[in-house]
Amino acid sequence: MKEKRVIKLSVKTLAYLVIFSITILLILTIAKDLIISYSYEKYQERKINNLAQKVHDYEIDELYSKLENIAYDNSVCIKYLTTTNTINYNTLMVGCELNNSGINSILNNIIRDNKEIKNLKLVNEDNDKKAILSGVKVDNGYVFIYSLLEDTNSANIILRNQVIYITIIVIILACFIAYFISIKITKPITNITLKAKELGEGNYNIHFDRSDILEINELSKTLEHVGEDLSKIDELRRDLLANVSHDLKTPLTMIKAYAEMVRDITYKDKEKREKDLNVIIDEAERLNILVNDILTLSKMQANSDVLTLEQFDLCEVIRDVLKRYDILRTMEDYEFIVNVPDKAIVLADKQKIIQVIYNLVNNAINYTGEDKKVFINVINNKKEYVVEIKDTGKGIKKEEINYIWDKYYRVEKKHQRNVVSTGIGLSIVKEVLSKHKFDYGVKSKEGVGTTFYFKIRK
Ligand code: ADP
Repeated sequence: MKEKRVIKLSVKTLAYLVIFSITILLILTIAKDLIISYSYEKYQERKINNLAQKVHDYEIDELYSKLENIAYDNSVCIKYLTTTNTINYNTLMVGCELNNSGINSILNNIIRDNKEIKNLKLVNEDNDKKAILSGVKVDNGYVFIYSLLEDTNSANIILRNQVIYITIIVIILACFIAYFISIKITKPITNITLKAKELGEGNYNIHFDRSDILEINELSKTLEHVGEDLSKIDELRRDLLANVSHDLKTPLTMIKAYAEMVRDITYKDKEKREKDLNVIIDEAERLNILVNDILTLSKMQANSDVLTLEQFDLCEVIRDVLKRYDILRTMEDYEFIVNVPDKAIVLADKQKIIQVIYNLVNNAINYTGEDKKVFINVINNKKEYVVEIKDTGKGIKKEEINYIWDKYYRVEKKHQRNVVSTGIGLSIVKEVLSKHKFDYGVKSKEGVGTTFYFKIRK
């Protein structure tokens, strides 16, 4: 697969910020012409409306003098038309002479219709200048207040230059912000990376600094958990190694000693020889179990082991597994109480289910009580078969029960001579059943016994 190009966080943040700033500035540049001319027009309209309102409120005899002030103070033009004459105010201001005949006829029409007019937009066709006009009726005539709408182009040109400066400033600012953001984010990440490397080198008791960024905090916590888990597994693995070497060494010593004994001493005496040879066979069997457990687990872990589903009779499989223990039944008085239907056809990986049943039965035999009883039930439910393997042993403590499925976990840490214990059996059971997505579990009462169960869909 082609590897994705990786870029430093600071460069990436900077790129995003620059793109963002340029987009905003572009929008501003494009929209500013519209924004400026629109708001300028609105401003003039509001101003003229306010003045019109004022004119309304004045007494007729003070109107003459007041209009003069209004025109100059607000830079608007005013035309006062009475029945007898016309007074123009602020005539010096550019655009106050409404000398266009078209405009004059509009004013005449307003006067003739005897109505008020608000924010009328006028266009002087001679010079293409625009103006806004409001007409107020007073007792002896009309007051027209109007203002020329200046061309906003010149303002735009000034602003265009400003936008260039603003762009440069914004980009420089973006660089600084990007730099600080990246430092803020990269520093804790770099720290975590360094510590994770240490974790990888086997230093599991490492503390990851907390950050005020939620995601980075989560990452720290997760890695710390990983460290704790790894340390637990590592401890268990070391334990196992010690146990396994012990378990391997003891039978090997015995095999060697008994083989030498047969070779040198008991080879002539049939009875003694067979007794010694049986010890050798038993010890070899012990070795076999141990090595098989380890091999099965490593095979499962390599994940090369995919499920090969087939239909088979679960009860027949159980009976076959139990046959392997015939020797225990006859020689050591173990009792298997089997309660299964005649047939239970299921779809699963037969070899792996055999392994599961074998491991559970094996545990039940190893850990059952003095009565040496092991119960095996298959319950026929509507959608599934429930397989139960029950013993009468001393049970599993509540605080241990969650851990027994862990790899290498053994309740009895001390090595016991009569049980080959690797802590692997149940982790294989867990692995197989979870791969099948079969429900499974354990119920245990201290001093009464333990029941392991799993459910196989029909
Ligand atoms: P092993 O039996 O090789 O130690 P397992 O993974 O099969 O490993 O079991 C893990 C631990 O769970 C055992 O060491 C044992 O302490 C406990 N355990 C398993 N089965 C039973 C049982 N039927 N009764 C009591 N304890 C059990």
